[in-house]
Amino acid sequence: MKKKLSILFFTVFSFAFAQNNNIDQKVENLLKQMTLEEKIGQLNQYTGDNTITGPLTINPNKKEEIKQGKIGSMLNVLGSEYTRQYQELAMQSRLKIPLLFGLDVIHGYKTTFPIPLAEAASWDLQAIELSARVAAREAASSGIHWTFAPMVDVSRDPRWGRVMEGAGEDTFLGSKIAYARVKGFQGNKLGELNSVLACAKHFAAYGAAIGGRDYNSVDISERTLWETYLPPFKAAVDAGAATFMNSFNDINGVPATGNSHIQRDILKGKWNFDGFVVSDWGSIGEMIAHGYVKDGKEAAFAAIMAGSDMDMESNAYRNNLKQLVEEGKVPNSILDDAVRRILRKKFELGLFDNPYRFSDSKRQQKELNNSENTKAAREVAAKSIVLLKNENKILPLSKETKTIAFIGPMVKFKRANHGFWAIDLKDVDSTYIVSQWEGLQRKVSKNTKLLYAKGCGINDSNKDGFKEAIDVANQADVVIVSIGEKHDMSGEAKSRSSIAIPGVQEELIKELQKTGKPIVILINAGRPLVFNWTADNMPTIVYTWWLGSEAGNAIADVLFGDYNPSGKLPMTFPRNEGQIPIYYNHYNTGRPAKDDNDKTYVSSYIDLPNSPKFPFGFGLSYTTFDYSDLKLSKNKINRNEEIKVSLKITNSGKIAGEEVVQLYLRDRVASIVRPIKELKGFNKIALQAGETKEISFTINNETISFYNNNIELISEAGEFDIMIGSSSEDIKLKSKFELID
Ligand code: BGC
Repeated sequence: MKKKLSILFFTVFSFAFAQNNNIDQKVENLLKQMTLEEKIGQLNQYTGDNTITGPLTINPNKKEEIKQGKIGSMLNVLGSEYTRQYQELAMQSRLKIPLLFGLDVIHGYKTTFPIPLAEAASWDLQAIELSARVAAREAASSGIHWTFAPMVDVSRDPRWGRVMEGAGEDTFLGSKIAYARVKGFQGNKLGELNSVLACAKHFAAYGAAIGGRDYNSVDISERTLWETYLPPFKAAVDAGAATFMNSFNDINGVPATGNSHIQRDILKGKWNFDGFVVSDWGSIGEMIAHGYVKDGKEAAFAAIMAGSDMDMESNAYRNNLKQLVEEGKVPNSILDDAVRRILRKKFELGLFDNPYRFSDSKRQQKELNNSENTKAAREVAAKSIVLLKNENKILPLSKETKTIAFIGPMVKFKRANHGFWAIDLKDVDSTYIVSQWEGLQRKVSKNTKLLYAKGCGINDSNKDGFKEAIDVANQADVVIVSIGEKHDMSGEAKSRSSIAIPGVQEELIKELQKTGKPIVILINAGRPLVFNWTADNMPTIVYTWWLGSEAGNAIADVLFGDYNPSGKLPMTFPRNEGQIPIYYNHYNTGRPAKDDNDKTYVSSYIDLPNSPKFPFGFGLSYTTFDYSDLKLSKNKINRNEEIKVSLKITNSGKIAGEEVVQLYLRDRVASIVRPIKELKGFNKIALQAGETKEISFTINNETISFYNNNIELISEAGEFDIMIGSSSEDIKLKSKFELID
């Protein structure tokens, strides 16, 4: 048996090795035949003219350039038909090198899933991988080879509009999610027809923009970079991410696009990344505005030398690289390395065997109308919902409720559920997006009367609709109010200085409260919002983010108990913007406040507690969970040993549910101050009513290692606290252990 296994292993290994070798050989053969212009051509990426909607019109200049082999990749060309037409042009070029088609498939292609921040709230890695898998299948069937996702930027600032696109504030959770999403997009293997190249972005530290203003400078220590911002990128490399995208920001004064330390030393050096790096849109040219280079030629030089392989829309390589190589400023070896990296991915995708293999209208037709995809989107959306309050236990609602008033600007507004970075496909109308109204209609019994009033707009000051809303509420047994941010209020270039609920929506709730009716609040948003009045006065609040095309169904599933909510916040919700940046894994100061009332000469505001409105990791269920029997296999370990931490979880309520058990650690004393707690493990567990399960975590040297100021990953002997709980604040079980030298 053993022998058979080793033969099998040897065969698989030698096959994989031979294949890689084979591809390397093919790349070299091709490279030898390429002129300087053709090589530079591979590094150029431009946007399609048809963009997302409208008739296909290929700009005549671009047409010519593609035929001459001067363009290696296009973005924003959608659909099997259009990608095929572009590819036909590339097939007229001398060497017939196929174009690579890239697109921002961020949270779904046709079927939209929750925005990535919402998905992170599911803490369900399988669900997250599935969502990326479905997105890849749909996009690949439409001729797309490459998605510009996942965005793995950690961010501790909800003012930053792009928090909607990432996994939130935590490095550990973010790294697990980065891994799952890369696996989901790339599937078993590149070259399979339902796999697309993933792109980890934005390298690096884009989420640390000062003041949460998009594109802003980043000024952080090298250690913070390694400790907080780099691990999700490393996880993406470990998952086999084929490409990286760099970022618009500068890091400590050096734009990421021209940052050799980040791209060459760390990514391609230390991490041995063998894929290619694409610039962000125009970011090579933007180094001029940064004041880092004086013109396009210097920009091209800085970018290619720093390891930016492909130029997205700057025209900097197109206009300057030839001269730079001919003058001997850019060595041929640097140029060849970039070209090789790109060609290798084209070979791995099988495009040289058949350049049209992804552009298959039959497959597209089938894949874009696959009910399995819709089912997956509904499930993932339900898992992403976070129950923030259910004080009067109004939820779950009965499907037999006589009269329900569904009020608010989000109720019938389909596009809002789609969120930012959703693709509005040509020929596909929005009827497949399930509005919250439709979801409710489908869910309730035929005897239930549903009433609707818009109440107000999302972001205006008009209160004319209040009266109708109050009238409708007065007729109902239960009122559901759906408010929040419009789909374009969080996303790229959508930073907000105030993250309050926009317009007069909270005022509408105040008026509705006067009716004395039981009210359920739904908050739809692309980030944590500030809503103190609602949070303090409304007993029932559900955070529904932007959930995608199945939002209406998923929300109804949760409201009526067909799915018991299990989401947990992947970001801290502040009391107001003055607390930002606010995150659970901060250090202690020399004067830590004992509690929120402790205000004398301690590190706190005189006008605000330090605690958040809702903490990281928080979310309720319709059932309750008891934590017990915490056991450690050992209390002392050396660096080669590990500890098994086990505990029991009991569903002590009356219905089935899922709990996200969270393990936090604290290194009590170290040569670098350590966070007051750090997430180091989590386990999402499903339990029937009354059921008990034992779960376990492993702690080893890796779990407790950290970077010192020389960027060495070390662990230090001493005591560590273990905290296990249902959120970063709701710690149910505690213990400790010691690392000995
Ligand atoms: C964004 C990227 C995106 C690119 C292409 C840029 O503005 O920052 O995340 O992939 O555009 O659409």
